[in-house]
Amino acid sequence: MTFLPYGRHCIDEVDIAAMVDVLHSDWLTTGPCVERFEADVCAYTGARYGVAVSSGTAALHTAMFALGIGPGDEVIVTPMTFAASANCILYQRGIPVFADVDERTLLLDPAGVEAAVTPRTRAIIGVDYAGQPCDWDALRSVADRHGLALVDDACHALGATYKNRKVGTLADISVFSFHPVKHITTGEGGMVVTNDVRLAERMRAFRGHGITTTASQREKAGAWFYEMTALGYNYRITDFQCALGSSQLKKLDGWVARRNQLAQGYATAFANQQIVRPLFCHKHVRHAYHLYVVRTPDRDVAFRHLRAHNIGANVHYIPVHLHPYYREQFHTGEGMCPVAEAAYKEILTLPLWPGMHDADLHLVCETLVRKSA
Ligand SMILES: *Cc1c(COP(=O)(O)O)cnc(C)c1O
Repeated sequence: MTFLPYGRHCIDEVDIAAMVDVLHSDWLTTGPCVERFEADVCAYTGARYGVAVSSGTAALHTAMFALGIGPGDEVIVTPMTFAASANCILYQRGIPVFADVDERTLLLDPAGVEAAVTPRTRAIIGVDYAGQPCDWDALRSVADRHGLALVDDACHALGATYKNRKVGTLADISVFSFHPVKHITTGEGGMVVTNDVRLAERMRAFRGHGITTTASQREKAGAWFYEMTALGYNYRITDFQCALGSSQLKKLDGWVARRNQLAQGYATAFANQQIVRPLFCHKHVRHAYHLYVVRTPDRDVAFRHLRAHNIGANVHYIPVHLHPYYREQFHTGEGMCPVAEAAYKEILTLPLWPGMHDADLHLVCETLVRKSA
């Protein structure tokens, strides 16, 4: 029996042809396909400006730079996420402040965010965990009351909506990842989107060493002169990656629909028992289901049982404030975010990706529920 992973990319011959075309062209990086992919993601999300970068992590760093996060600035972040959501604060020498999550959804709890605000707070990073958007209206009102910037780490949520508004337009800056387990892939890659032209310009420069023009702009203008006005990085993404991204994006809506169908299949299978409990999904969202997460009391036993049957269950995530680096550097630990810590002991991610068959899903359900019964 073959191994069933928890997530997997889908690449077809049309995607491959799109990349090969670019390899025959003049621009392998910082060329027209990068701009086209940025325009495509903007058209899809409704955001005004997009800056494509080399990873989701680079995108988060770019967002922190653009907002002017610096030494001693506090940024409030959820612990129920991949470490990169908080690491980006450290890259700018800021201080991460962990606020707890809502018990039913494991999304940042706006009341906990409000309680964590101090005179040094500059921004809030919400993560649309598993693909369900945070309560962005409530987070916006906290941000407005205290003059804070809002960042959506939307790496799980491309294609999701909140009260009929698309993810990508819900915060001051939204961040996407195109790693192979995410909704669409460029191999490695990411993007920051915003409606604020000033933030967009800062992010565009940061991607290319803090230099004011790109090589292709200089070539078009017949000029050699450029200046570096900020300390940026090389966070560029290639044109062939972006050609893949644009090709993948055309299939996104179909994939999100299939992810929802599979999630519905799991929910139905788990409806008449108490041992395996799916997370709550709000009525006012379209969930993008990057992850299908359930809670189950004997998580480690269930995990080993599934793996023994070649089913790639996983755990997302160990709360960031419990990682040794954070404990040592920031004296974080148990008791700081009790809801996230209790959830961590019970959460289990089940396989979910658009190319998965119904038979795969039934196998997962049978294996899990039979064991638990
Ligand atoms: C994947 C992910 C990232 C990082 O993206 P990379 O492209 O792997 O750098 C950041 N935050 C969250 C929530 C993610 O899931």
